[in-house]
Amino acid sequence: MSDRDIPRRKRVIVLGATGSIGASGLDIIRNDPGRFEIVGLSAHRNREALASLAREFGVSEPILSSEGEAPLLEMIKRTKADVVLNGIAGSSGLRPSIAALESGKDLALANKETIVMAGPLVRDLAKRAQARILPVDSEHSAVFALIEAHGSDAVAEVVLTASGGPFRSWDRERLARVRAADALRHPTWSMGPKITVDSASLANKGLEVIEACRLFDLPPDRVKVVVHPQSLVHSLIRTKDGVLWAQISLPDMRHPILSALAWPEVVPNRLEPLALDRLLDMRFEPPRYDDFPLLPLARRAAGMGGAYTIAYNASNEEAVAAFLEDRIGFLELAEVTARVLERDWSGEPADFDAVFAADAAARKAARDTIAILAR
Ligand code: NDP
Ligand code: MG
Repeated sequence: MSDRDIPRRKRVIVLGATGSIGASGLDIIRNDPGRFEIVGLSAHRNREALASLAREFGVSEPILSSEGEAPLLEMIKRTKADVVLNGIAGSSGLRPSIAALESGKDLALANKETIVMAGPLVRDLAKRAQARILPVDSEHSAVFALIEAHGSDAVAEVVLTASGGPFRSWDRERLARVRAADALRHPTWSMGPKITVDSASLANKGLEVIEACRLFDLPPDRVKVVVHPQSLVHSLIRTKDGVLWAQISLPDMRHPILSALAWPEVVPNRLEPLALDRLLDMRFEPPRYDDFPLLPLARRAAGMGGAYTIAYNASNEEAVAAFLEDRIGFLELAEVTARVLERDWSGEPADFDAVFAADAAARKAARDTIAILAR
C-alpha cells in the first residue's frame, strides 16, 4: 500500500475544550485516534485544564481567549485543519465561527448563538468559502440527518423535542420561587450553566426553534416543539405524506458530535447503543407556552426577522447572567426579554458589524431593564 492509499486523519480544532461539549468532543477523538487528530485547542480562563489537554494531545500553542480574542481568531485561520468543533458558550462563539468558515474549514457547530445571531450571513459565508455547517445541537443534528435521508423537498415540518427541564410540572407559584441552584439541576443532560438555565426556562428550545428556522430555511409555523421528558427521540420530521420520522439514541452529546466530525461518513464507535427491548418509557406532551413565555417569544422573534433574534439572544444572555447572580428571579428571565423585544429591531443586519451593533444595543436595553426589575 502506498502512502496515498492510507486515509488521512481528520484534523480537528476544538474550541471551548474545557467545557461540556469540549469534553465530549475530546472523548470521541481520544477513542478514535486512527480517524481524528487534534491540531488546535482553546479555552477561556481555565489555564491549567487547557495546558494539560495540550500536553495530552500534543498541541504546541493552545489558546486562552481571555487574554485576547485576536490570537484565537489567528489560530483558527492559520492552523491547517479540516473541521472546527465550536463548543464556546454564548455569543462569543460567533467570531470564531466566522474565522473557521472564512478560512474554508467545515464547522461542527454546537454554538447555536452563531446561527441565532447571524444565520443568513453565516450560511452565505459558508457557501462562498465552500465550507459546511454541520449542526451538533442534538435536535438539529437529528433533523439534519433526517433531511439528508429524505431530501428537503419532502419535508412538511420539523418537530423539535424538549426535555421540559426540571420545572416541567411546576405551577407558576413554585416557578416564582426558583433560585439559580434549582435551575442548575437538569434531569437528563449534563451541560454548562448558561444552557442549563435556558433548558429550565425553555429559552434553549426558543433558541433552537430560531436555529432550526435559519439552518433549514423554514418559517416558524413549520417548526413544532413537543415535550418528551426521556430525551431519547432527539427530533423528528414529518414528510409531506404525513409520516413522522424520528432519530433515537441515548441522550449523549458524543453521538451528534461524532456525526458532525465524521460527516459524510457514518462510523462505528464505542458509545452505548440504545436497546429497544428494554422497558422504554417514551411520552410526548405539548409545551406549556403560557408558563414558559421564552418559547413563544422566540417564535415571534423568528417570524419578525430583522435583528429580533439577535435581541432575543442578547437580552436572554444578560438576564441569565443576572439570574445566576441572584439579582432577578426565574419569572423575570422572560420579562427582561419580553420588554427588550417591545423595541424596534426590524432593521435587517447587512453585515457582521451590524450584527454586533444590534447585539450591543440589545444588551444595553436588557441591562437597563434588569436594573429596574432588580430594585
Ligand atoms: P460550557 O460552559 O460547559 O463550556 C464553555 C466553553 O467555552 C469552555 O471551554 C470555556 O472556557 C469557553 N468559553 C467561555 N466563555 C468564553 C468566551 N467568552 N470566549 C471563548 N471561549 C469561552 O458550555 P457548554 O459546553 O455547555 O456549551 C457550549 C455551546 O454548546 C453553547 O453554545 C451551548 O448552547 C451549546 N450546546 C451545548 C450542549 C451541551 O450538552 N452542553 C448541547 C447543545 C448545544 P473556560 O472553561 O476556560 O471558561
Ligand atoms: Mg439541543
